[in-house]
Amino acid sequence: MGPPPVLGAARVLAFASDARHLAIGETVETHEIQLLHCDADWGVVSSTTHASVEDARAEAEKAWPGVGELWIDAGVSREDAIAWLEEDATEFKCSFCGRRPDQVKNLLAQGDARICNFCIVDFAKELAAERES
Ligand SMILES: [Zn+2]
Repeated sequence: MGPPPVLGAARVLAFASDARHLAIGETVETHEIQLLHCDADWGVVSSTTHASVEDARAEAEKAWPGVGELWIDAGVSREDAIAWLEEDATEFKCSFCGRRPDQVKNLLAQGDARICNFCIVDFAKELAAERES
């Protein structure tokens, strides 16, 4: 069975056709190429960042010789990946700006409310401006 369209914050570009649960993805927001090693349910166990898909494939080949023959193109469009992330994130978005968890560095939660690092910085700036006036 292949992976879902998104692993962590990365759109799946390719995956190994054997049972090793390896995938190469590109993060939707920051366009980082990642080599992802997953468990049997495609939960991300570890990921490394690479300069290009070729680099990620070369790194995979070093760790798992022969895997180069097994890559299958996942065919996930960026739109599909964003739709998947949006659906997955419905309950976990910032309550103030609506950013998804994959679009922020930190998300502070209290009950049903969440606030992201961007909103906290904006609020801190507002407070500082008030203090100065
Ligand atoms: Zn926010």
